[in-house]
Amino acid sequence: MIKTRFAPSPTGYLHLGGLRTALYNYLYARKTGGKVVLRIEDTDQNRKVEGAVDNLLETFDKMGIRFDEGPRQGGSCGPYFQSDRLPLYREQLQRLLDSGQAYPCFCTPERLAKVREERAANKLNTPYDRHCIRLPRQEALDRMQSEPHVVRMKIPSERTIRFYDIIRDAVEFNCAEIDDQVLFKTDGFPTYHFANVVDDHFMEITHVIRGEEWLPSTPKHILLYEFFGWKAPKFAHLPLLLNPDRSKLSKRQGDVAVEAYLQKGYLPEALNNYVALLGWAPGNDREMFSLDQLEKAFSLKGLQKSGAVFDVEKLKWMNGHYLRELPLKQIAHAAEPRFRKAGIDISDKEKYFQVVDDARRRISILDEILNFSKMFYEAPVAEGEHRSLTDNQTSQKLFQFWLDNLHKLAHPDEESLKELIQKTTDELGISGKNLYWPLRIALYGSPHGPDIPTLLKILGLKESIKRLQRQLN
Ligand code: GLU
Repeated sequence: MIKTRFAPSPTGYLHLGGLRTALYNYLYARKTGGKVVLRIEDTDQNRKVEGAVDNLLETFDKMGIRFDEGPRQGGSCGPYFQSDRLPLYREQLQRLLDSGQAYPCFCTPERLAKVREERAANKLNTPYDRHCIRLPRQEALDRMQSEPHVVRMKIPSERTIRFYDIIRDAVEFNCAEIDDQVLFKTDGFPTYHFANVVDDHFMEITHVIRGEEWLPSTPKHILLYEFFGWKAPKFAHLPLLLNPDRSKLSKRQGDVAVEAYLQKGYLPEALNNYVALLGWAPGNDREMFSLDQLEKAFSLKGLQKSGAVFDVEKLKWMNGHYLRELPLKQIAHAAEPRFRKAGIDISDKEKYFQVVDDARRRISILDEILNFSKMFYEAPVAEGEHRSLTDNQTSQKLFQFWLDNLHKLAHPDEESLKELIQKTTDELGISGKNLYWPLRIALYGSPHGPDIPTLLKILGLKESIKRLQRQLN
């Protein structure tokens, strides 16, 4: 069975890059009928950020990404926490100490810093001089009982590590360039490398799909699998996400936190769809995929090698598509907090749905929705240029004509309003801009917007009459 994992360190919000990695692991598991596991890699005590895990779980809930296995109940399982698994790591470390593939290192941070500097000055490839590898075994074991130490892995000195990466094909690293990696730290916690490999093995992970920044770590991981005599999983290292100027995607050029996009009113559907296409191509021109459709369409073959540019304009465009296409009820629900926050009374649900249905066609993110809907709740005031469009003689004649006729209308339905528009042209000779703009400004506050019958329908006859009346001097 295929089994993948998303293994974040709890150091902050879920970033777009993290979402992409999680998505691909999730999609591949769903596609193949396998499992995907969420594992919190929290062995670095200094980098832990309060609230990060809760935030991560919340974000995945919002995104509709669910994990399998693990303690949490409900629709989504997990996560596993590495900090719960320390005995396992200690036990496995002992195996490497016993076989001599790992050794304790007692060098002080001061010595290490000095050595690092000297070796860098001498252009040596690795920062550590393997000082402690030469300690007699018994002495090393004795000192381990009482002295602070780390445990390092013994990297073979002359070897090339070759492995196959699903995205990059054959990859090789020369051991001469790999430092004797610390596996356990002085605080008694394993490092990322060690815990990650042990967990991937014991959790029976078959495919490791992760960012390309982990590629240089992979030879160390391959060696650890070898030391233990375990079969290594298959690896796929995803290309970087880039800013439009092709620099590495970073906070400096805009938001990178998924949460920030959700807050601005990007829909989970659009984010999943857009992010899935940053480094994966479906093999045809299709761009719109729901999560369900992605689960069917995804394949490792479609993963791309070159960096993927995150283009917020494209995301916006896609979000606009989802705003128009998703069920009105869903969009209305998503928009509700924005109306409440603005103190708008949306208890008339029929009106609210009509308002949202109109506004969602004009916006690309939910943050913009009030700009296109608050005028349905508060009469707009025509000012400046708009004012001169409504204050002139023709407009005043128009308003009076509409008021007279609207009073007589039993049912201001689309049909009768269209007739009224025609009648206005026939009897007053007012048409086009001269007709639509002043009416729209009076009713909606802007010359551009919904057509007149739609406006009257949403506002209702009474409110429309009130607004036109106001425009009459
Ligand atoms: N904990 C690592 C991270 O923060 C996991 C990398 C991996 O997937 O192996 O991204």
